Amino acid sequence: PVVLGIESSCDETGAGLVRDGKLLGHAVASSMDEHARFGGVVPEIAARAHVHAAAPVVHAALADAGLTMRDIGAVAVTTGPGLSGALQVGLAAAKGIAYALDVPLYGVHHLAGHVAADTLEHGPLPDPCMVLIVSGGHTSLLLVRDLARDPIVHLGDTLDDAAGECFDKVARVFGLPYPGGPAVDRAAREGDPGAVPFPRPLTGPRDDPYAFSFSGLKTAAARWAEQHRAAGRALPVADGAASLQEAVADVLTRKAVAACVEHGVGTLVVVGGVAANSRVRALARQRCAAAGVGLRVPPLRLCTDNGAMIAAVGDLLARAGAPAAPLDVSIDPSAPLEYATLHPVARRV
Ligand code: ATP
Ligand code: MG
Ligand code: FE
Repeated sequence: PVVLGIESSCDETGAGLVRDGKLLGHAVASSMDEHARFGGVVPEIAARAHVHAAAPVVHAALADAGLTMRDIGAVAVTTGPGLSGALQVGLAAAKGIAYALDVPLYGVHHLAGHVAADTLEHGPLPDPCMVLIVSGGHTSLLLVRDLARDPIVHLGDTLDDAAGECFDKVARVFGLPYPGGPAVDRAAREGDPGAVPFPRPLTGPRDDPYAFSFSGLKTAAARWAEQHRAAGRALPVADGAASLQEAVADVLTRKAVAACVEHGVGTLVVVGGVAANSRVRALARQRCAAAGVGLRVPPLRLCTDNGAMIAAVGDLLARAGAPAAPLDVSIDPSAPLEYATLHPVARRV
C-alpha cells in the first residue's frame, strides 16, 4: 500500500508518502522561526503550529507525489518520544485520516523513523548494522537487525546532553543564531579546528566505550568564551565553532567505528539532525574507510525531522505484517526504543 507518514514530535510538521521502500513525495513545515526569539522550542507554540500545518502539509505531500487521499492505504504516525502537545496533534490527524479512509494505523517510534530515513535513499538496511543516532534530544549507539521485527539492542547513550543540544547551547553562548547546529557548521568553515584544545569526553581506556557525555564540552566552550569576554578580547567565533565541531565529530565517529569493529558489524549508519553536520560526515567517511566499515548517511533533507521517515517505518511494518494500532492508541512522550512500533507482535523466531 501507499503509506502516509505523519511526524509532529517537535517543531517540524512532516508528511511523507512511501510505497515498497520508495519515497513518492513529502513536505515539511517548521515553526522554527516562531521559537527563535525564545532560543529554544516552546511546546505550546509548537503544538499550535502543528494544528495549522497538519492538513496543508499532508496535501502538499500528496501533491508532491501526484496522489490523492484515496490512494492512501495505511497511515503511520509518530507516537513518541517528543513533546506531548505536539505529538497529540499529529496522532489526532493520523487517526482522523485512518478512520475516514478505513485503513490501518501504525504508531511509530520517532528514532526508528530517523533510522529508516536512510532506507529511502540507500535501500534496505543490512542485517545487522550499527546505528549512531545523533539529534537534538538523543545520542545513542544501537545494534539494529530487522527494524520491523527484531528488538533493537541499545549499546549506549549520552549520560547528559545530546550532541545537537551541545551545538545549540554553545551556539547561543557564541552569539550564533538559532538553531545552533547549522550555525556552528557554517561558522566553522572559516575557523581552525585545532585552535582550541577542547576535551574529548569518555574516550579514555577505562571509560564506557558506548557512553557519551557532552555537558563538560559545553561548559569548556562556555568558559573559553567567558575568558575572552573577561579579558575584553573579541571572541574568535569561527575558531571556537571549528574546534567544538571537531571535538564532537571526533568523539562520535571514534566510538561508533570502534563499536562496529568490536561487534564485527560491517556497516555504520549515522542518522538524526547532527548527521547533517559536514565534519561528522567527513570524519565518519574517513574513519569508516580506514577501518573497512561501510558507511551510510541519509541525504541532508532526510536527516532532520520529516514525515517520509515515519512513512518508511510504516511501510516496513505493513510489509512485515505487523499488527495495526487500535484507534484509541495513545502518545508516549518518553517511549523507550526497543521496537520501531509500540505494538510489537511479529518477532523473529
Ligand atoms: P530527537 O530526534 O532526538 O527527538 P529532534 O527531532 O529535535 O530531536 P532532529 O530534528 O533530528 O532533532 O535534529 C535537530 C538537531 O540537529 C538540532 O540540535 C540541530 O542543531 C542539529 N543540527 C542540524 N543540522 C546540523 C548541522 N549541520 N550541524 C550540527 N548540528 C545540526
Ligand atoms: Mg526540529
Ligand atoms: Fe528527530
